[in-house]
Amino acid sequence: MSELQELVEGVYRDLKSHIGEGKIADYIPELAKVDPKQFGIAVATLDGGFHVVGDAETSFSIQSISKVFTLTLALGKAGDTLWTRVGREPSGSAFNSIVQLEYEKGKPRNPFINAGAIAVADLILAGHQPREAIGEIVHFARFLAGDDSIAIDHEVAKSEAETGYRNIALANFMRSFGRLDHPVEHVLGVYVHHCALAMSCRQLARAGLYLAAGGNDPLLGNRVVSRERARRINSLMLMCGHYDGSGDFAFRVGLPGKSGVGGGILAVAPGKASIAVWSPGLNEYGNSQVGAAALELLAHRTGWSIFGS
Ligand code: GLN
Repeated sequence: MSELQELVEGVYRDLKSHIGEGKIADYIPELAKVDPKQFGIAVATLDGGFHVVGDAETSFSIQSISKVFTLTLALGKAGDTLWTRVGREPSGSAFNSIVQLEYEKGKPRNPFINAGAIAVADLILAGHQPREAIGEIVHFARFLAGDDSIAIDHEVAKSEAETGYRNIALANFMRSFGRLDHPVEHVLGVYVHHCALAMSCRQLARAGLYLAAGGNDPLLGNRVVSRERARRINSLMLMCGHYDGSGDFAFRVGLPGKSGVGGGILAVAPGKASIAVWSPGLNEYGNSQVGAAALELLAHRTGWSIFGS
């Protein structure tokens, strides 16, 4: 067994007794049905190695982790003009907060809070019907993961569409400032569908490799984004990827990371690996409790923190 595989299994073993801790997201009714006693880790290294343990092959709702992929897509379409629509400052507020939007005249603080991702969805919709935009995002996730089986969980999308009053409010508020080009229903349709992408830790770790490898897919040799863009996406993940828990995550883990309320986290160790963890119980900020603990141990034991080993 390789040293890294042993290390990943050690992290799993050390946290096994904590599986199920935290609070599962229940404001999206379909997510409340997920068994909280699950935990997976997948580490994909730049040389093509995969080190997995636990429930790493089980698909789960990636939720806000998808915002990394939609940001990447939207930057490809709009380039740096995207930053006239969305800021790049940490918010220090909850993922679904509306308060700062009023002060900033409807311009979201960053692309990873809900308001920011809604603005990004609006950009991806340019020139498309919602169905086409959703299809484009699914294809992009499949391309990044090298796996055509990746799909949207339509029950989750429907469940969020029916109950997502806060996001409906956010989108209408932004639209009132002239910040959205498309009908609110279309924008939210794209948003809830990309949040409902279902992927496993293994697929997610594979999909995130381009961010660890300076924008290149290291396994196929394709350039996904420029080196500079990959670096910038990583910096946004570090500063904003865990909402008002971003400081705590940087302090404990020291890697760019993006969480989702499904309990997944995608973390990037630049030049080394892409890591996905999943365990549904969430901490007070809506980030996976056991997942963050796993990344903390992993970063500590590998010495991969970007702030030094
Ligand atoms: N779809 C979820 C929502 O809008 C995403 C939130 C999250 O993963 N933090 O509430």
